[in-house]
Amino acid sequence: MALTDKFGRQITDLRVSVTDRCNFRCVYCRSSKPEDHADDVLLAWDEYERLVKVLVGMGIRKVRVTGGEPLVRAGVVEFVARLEALGVADLSMTTNGHLLAERVDALVAAGLNRINISLDSLDPEKFARITRTQSFAQVIAGIEAAQQSPLRPVKVNAVLVRGVNDDEVEAFAEFAREKDIVMRFIEYMPLDADRNWTRDQVVTAAEVHRRISTKWPLMPVVHERSETARRYRFVDGGGEIGLIAPVSQPFCGHCSRIRITADGKMRTCLFSKEDHDLKAVLRSGAGDREIGDAIQAIVDKKEKSHRINEPDFIPPSRTMVYIGG
Ligand code: SAM
Repeated sequence: MALTDKFGRQITDLRVSVTDRCNFRCVYCRSSKPEDHADDVLLAWDEYERLVKVLVGMGIRKVRVTGGEPLVRAGVVEFVARLEALGVADLSMTTNGHLLAERVDALVAAGLNRINISLDSLDPEKFARITRTQSFAQVIAGIEAAQQSPLRPVKVNAVLVRGVNDDEVEAFAEFAREKDIVMRFIEYMPLDADRNWTRDQVVTAAEVHRRISTKWPLMPVVHERSETARRYRFVDGGGEIGLIAPVSQPFCGHCSRIRITADGKMRTCLFSKEDHDLKAVLRSGAGDREIGDAIQAIVDKKEKSHRINEPDFIPPSRTMVYIGG
């Protein structure tokens, strides 16, 4: 059974947030004020596994484990192993990297295929201001450990915010070349907890491409239609650049993604106005077929596109740390 929405988009990618807790407090994501976390609302590992099992039966091929910070929830490595046993074709994780060096071998043994690590500055002091942590050295160690592991590709993600880290575009490109990694630049989206996002803080993919290609000629890499990133190689060497432009060049027409939040809600778009309770369906004693029907009914409501660029756009009430990036 293929999971398809009413616009004919096939849904093949799932992001599962396993916690809304994070050991970082990135300025473009989390609030400077204390946030509420209620661990008793989270799904149990068995429940996420059940949902993924049903979804794999409906055509989900790629599963990304995320959060919050997925590595702070005890049991996540075993969860990866359970997903691998379900036959997920492409199993990945997004992490801030703080705990990665010590967990990477266990994640590989559990069956993880690839990893995305967030790194928003190459300057330890600026990194500390952005993440409100002193974890720069651990994150670099995490990236190095991932590179030494069989995980491929290792992707490093930077969210660029004008006036904060946009001066580092070329430095990040050099980092990609030196380390022979995939460096991805993500446009800042209106998903920050403190609602400080403004359009003039967005550093567009076009600007990043222009600045990097002025220094080092780039050539496009063929990518899957549903991939979020436009990919480029350096003509003269190793490393790769990925440009993710949800604000300036939305890619909703090819969207193949759905999300499960840590508390068991399904979201059909990062910018959905509402999410859909699967926990209640699970806990009602529903069989796999009923769960599948509930999922299809939710997917039928998947939005044609996000509305960031519409005059009446309202940011979603749940921010990235709750949704799962
Ligand atoms: N803790 C993990 C991490 O740091 O990668 C996974 C969760 S984090 C919410 C997932 C991704 O969302 C990260 O790459 C982060 O930079 C990105 N993100 C968070 N807030 C964002 C925003 N307002 N705009 C664009 N990307 C954002």
